Amino acid sequence: MDYESFFRRELDELRQNGDYRIFANLQRQAGRFPHALHMRAGAPADLTIWCSNDYLGMGQHPAVLTAMHKALDECGAGAGGTRNIAGTNHYHVLLEQELADLHGTAAALLFNSGYMSNWAALSTLAARLPGCVVLSDASNHASMIEGIRHSRAKKIVFAHNDPADLERKLAALPPGTPSLVAFESVYSMDGDVAPIAAICDVADRYGAMTYLDEVHAVGLYGPRGGGIAEREGLAHRLTVTEGTLAKGFGVIGGYIAASSALCDFIRSFASGFIFTTAIPPAIAAGALASIRHLKTSDTERLAHRQRVAQLRAALDDAGVPHHRNGGHIVPVLVGNPILCKQVTDRLLEEFGVYVQPINYPTVPRGTERLRITPSPLHSEADIAHLVRSLSAIWSDLSLRRAA
Ligand code: PLP
Repeated sequence: MDYESFFRRELDELRQNGDYRIFANLQRQAGRFPHALHMRAGAPADLTIWCSNDYLGMGQHPAVLTAMHKALDECGAGAGGTRNIAGTNHYHVLLEQELADLHGTAAALLFNSGYMSNWAALSTLAARLPGCVVLSDASNHASMIEGIRHSRAKKIVFAHNDPADLERKLAALPPGTPSLVAFESVYSMDGDVAPIAAICDVADRYGAMTYLDEVHAVGLYGPRGGGIAEREGLAHRLTVTEGTLAKGFGVIGGYIAASSALCDFIRSFASGFIFTTAIPPAIAAGALASIRHLKTSDTERLAHRQRVAQLRAALDDAGVPHHRNGGHIVPVLVGNPILCKQVTDRLLEEFGVYVQPINYPTVPRGTERLRITPSPLHSEADIAHLVRSLSAIWSDLSLRRAA
């Protein structure tokens, strides 16, 4: 077989469909976020990032940087091994204690990313619990879907954010079936929020465990940044809370928070935990500082909410349609992959605004969009510039305006 031609043909097809991904070559600059350099051919150009998941700008917060510098000098670069073999550093232990405290659980367990935590925890739980059936929200993230698939357990998809459909599906199982309801609090692409209490009520009625991905909520919601469940006083109702250290907390890593026995079970059986080198101590120290800061400081959360509201109001004034989801992610639907890329190319080249086009398979075909994420560090001038730029492109391309 001519392997190279095969690869090229597949890539050409992606290009024709408008789904080929190009990464912007950025140089982040501590202290300047959301501004950064675009390292394009010729001279680097200044741009404003409008699609980062460093939602609160914690990736450059002085407390985080100081903690990371200190730990790097104390401990050196790497962790030195898997957690089991020489890789457990004191910072990992402190970080797990901090995470358990954040979610009000007895224990927490660290992973190298949010993706890994979902993949490892869901696959281990569903594979090892005899006869387990997983009830999975239709809009769950790829990492959850892959984890469930890897478990080979039976999976039943329930309609997105629909406790009544979940109930119908649980009721159809033989009584006493071990089951796990897997869902997210804030959905990453539509930005909508789950009815956590109603889902927990249904799960309780059928003796199902609950597994909540709070990746897009931790740091951002709740009086201490514990997520939507904390904001709604529901943290105690979840069997497992999963989160990331990469988005609201601005560093990298993932975790689950749950009972001691459950965390110990995953620690003891999950291949994705056991057989990989632990995150570097300086990373753990940075995440620890970020969580500690956001537990006591509401400043970032309040400014974040204010910027989201200001952006939405400015988009309304300009008639640029956006999805009102009650959260901090602002999806602007274009509905065509080629047009979506045209919009974002022009934003970048003509206006110095970086928004990555979101195309299939991240979202279903026909729902291609811009996914705009304001941070507390975007200024009012940044918002005005973004909306003026969008509005100009909307007119040029005759895109649909909001009524
Ligand atoms: N869960 C959800 C809902 C996500 O959107 C993502 C990534 O964007 C992840 C998990 C993976 O988290 P991480 O980026 O820390 O790997």
